Amino acid sequence: MSLTTAAYAVHSPTTPLEPWSFDRRDPLPNDVLIEILYCGVCHSDLHQARDEWGGSIFPMVPGHEIVGKVTRVGDSVTKWKVGDTVGVGVFVDSCRDCEPCRSGEEQYCEQGMTGTYNSIARDGVSVNYGGYSTQITIDQDYVVSIPEGIPLERAAPLLCAGITTYSPLKHFGVKPGDHVAVVGLGGLGHMGVKFAKALGAHVTVLSHSPGKRDAALALGADDFVATGEEGAFQANTAKFNFILDTVSADHEYNDYLGMLKLNGNMVLVGLPNPTKVGAFALVGKRRSLSGSMIGGIRETQEMLDFCAEKGIASDVEVIQADYINEAYDRMLKSDVRYRFVIDIASLK
Ligand code: NAP
Ligand code: ZN
Ligand code: ZN
Repeated sequence: MSLTTAAYAVHSPTTPLEPWSFDRRDPLPNDVLIEILYCGVCHSDLHQARDEWGGSIFPMVPGHEIVGKVTRVGDSVTKWKVGDTVGVGVFVDSCRDCEPCRSGEEQYCEQGMTGTYNSIARDGVSVNYGGYSTQITIDQDYVVSIPEGIPLERAAPLLCAGITTYSPLKHFGVKPGDHVAVVGLGGLGHMGVKFAKALGAHVTVLSHSPGKRDAALALGADDFVATGEEGAFQANTAKFNFILDTVSADHEYNDYLGMLKLNGNMVLVGLPNPTKVGAFALVGKRRSLSGSMIGGIRETQEMLDFCAEKGIASDVEVIQADYINEAYDRMLKSDVRYRFVIDIASLK
């Protein structure tokens, strides 16, 4: 069987994505081969395709919100069988031996987790390619199970947007009655609203798009603040226990920190350019500023099972692969409710 794989790739930071093909490795004893059915379009794909974080490797096949079916298993595979419905998220390997890896937090691997794309494999040579492609070969330990009942196109974004918002809400112990603000109602933000509501919090969306008010309330948010309106920050001073900041573009952290109550915590998951944080924004109310990166394999499975139990899934706009460049343009304009997902059948 040929492992020639059709894909969409980007060849430089300034050129559009275009059809491409490459070879996946034949499954090693611990590998599975997955036929990809859907792949979500994360803002991190756009940041990396345009080399906004530096060090991007081209050609690049983005995509780390992957859902598909197992089509082959290596001789030593015990966890999966042909036909299983599975997911792959933001990383495909880690050292397995450091403290974070041993405690199931592979995303914080001391040797650096190996990204699903735009990364070099642990052999030091091969380049990893992501999910805007028809199939992927991957070690069985970095695969999760998609529970029955979640429509597959709505499950794909859970592999990044879902776990990235679930993990900090759980880690920092958001609980019923807490006042939580979610900044930015995009792919991550809309999942943040769903999870914070499911955990019993009172949820406010802070958005720079005034037109998203009705959509935010329809998603389950209790309140909405258009941050561009005069006096929006002053009117909400010291109001929240917890702020989840998912914004992809540069913005003033100090303004948002002012909305935290005594002992409040703002967690950054969005990854814009570096910006200054003022000590005065923190010390007066013993506030914290934290960060969080995706989640480990074990917690990703826990999040998927939680979604199946609570009837949670992403709200998506399914697209054909050849729409990807328009999708990037629209994502930059915050014009997606709330995640583009590529129907990979359109690549075959
Ligand atoms: P997205 O769907 O594009 O959503 C980002 C949201 O940010 C937009 O919907 C918009 O919400 C808000 N926004 C955009 N431009 C803005 C501006 N100029 N000023 C203020 N707000 C603005 O992106 P995403 O896929 O959710 O990703 C969000 C960020 O998280 C990206 O930087 C991505 O790289 C990062 N990320 C981090 C992790 C992690 O592990 N930490 C994982 C995945 C992604 P409103 O219209 O409501 O204002
Ligand atoms: Zn992502
Ligand atoms: Zn490790």
